[in-house]
Amino acid sequence: MATVAELPGTSLAPMTARPFRVVRRRRETSDTWTLELEPVAGPPLDVGPGQFTMLYAFGIGEVPISVSGEAGGPLIHTVRAVGAVSRAICAARPGTVLGVRGPFGNTWPVAAASGSDVVIVAGGIGLAPLRPAVYHLLAHRESYGEVAVLYGSRTPRDLLYTRELERWRGRFDLQVDVTVDRALEGWRGKVGVVPKLIAGARFDADAAVALVCGPEIMMRFAGEALLEHGVPAKRIHVSMERDMKCGLGYCGHCQLGTTLICRDGPVYRWDEVRPLMEVREL
Ligand SMILES: Cc1cc2nc3c(=O)[nH]c(=O)nc-3n(C[C@H](O)[C@H](O)[C@H](O)COP(=O)(O)OP(=O)(O)OC[C@H]3O[C@@H](n4cnc5c(N)ncnc54)[C@H](O)[C@@H]3O)c2cc1C
Repeated sequence: MATVAELPGTSLAPMTARPFRVVRRRRETSDTWTLELEPVAGPPLDVGPGQFTMLYAFGIGEVPISVSGEAGGPLIHTVRAVGAVSRAICAARPGTVLGVRGPFGNTWPVAAASGSDVVIVAGGIGLAPLRPAVYHLLAHRESYGEVAVLYGSRTPRDLLYTRELERWRGRFDLQVDVTVDRALEGWRGKVGVVPKLIAGARFDADAAVALVCGPEIMMRFAGEALLEHGVPAKRIHVSMERDMKCGLGYCGHCQLGTTLICRDGPVYRWDEVRPLMEVREL
């Protein structure tokens, strides 16, 4: 008799975690770490900007985590320790083996944005899923008009990738603006919420593409501010988060209205997702 895995259309492969070894681990903030992972055997993962994997701390659990590294490079994840699984992943030292499924989900529309100005609006850990999009824009810089990266965090201590932000700021072909909700001693930068940075960025609103990721409330305000600024709703894209289990559209855990975020997202157009943003997690 055939096993379930042998029946047509019932491959269990996407549900089976592949072992990946942590090769590097870097502390970003007091609760956030960036891990570089390599497959214990077999080919590297082919990931696009905006996609995520299901990352498994053996014996503890599995959570969706966005890819924060460059397409074609090693698998990089930036994780904030908020609960049992994310804490175990953040504690994984070099040599530790984690399970990886995926990549899952759609990508930021970086190819479709070719020829346009691009505005990136990130809040907190939301810069992690957007970083691969920034890498793509920089690698194909001649294909885009103005590019702006607008980033906000709670305090200066919560800013991710600070050295990289400084390098990006030093480029003449990229606008980088950073703000914090609350300044600490020694901070000489801006104070205020990230949507406020939109008015100060140079871009052609009618023809720009906006990529937004952060806490849902921040995305709501950023989306409204972009609209007010003249960016058409169809050109604003946000990455949504809900609890996920399978990553494949089977379990229904990440249902949002009529859509499943793991299968149809996580990246949605503003006009499609705005009405769903009020829908609470099931
Ligand atoms: C598509 C997608 C991509 C994601 N990418 C990333 C990523 O790149 N990096 C990353 O760190 N996280 C990311 N997340 C969120 C991550 O999956 C959750 O933080 C994780 O599931 C928490 O699991 P846990 O078992 O550690 O904590 P839980 O036990 O589930 O949660 C512990 C506590 O933390 C709260 N909590 C849960 N998630 C968050 C959160 N995101 N922020 C603040 N508090 C929270 C819960 O409400 C609860 O009170 C992503 C989620 C999705 C859906």
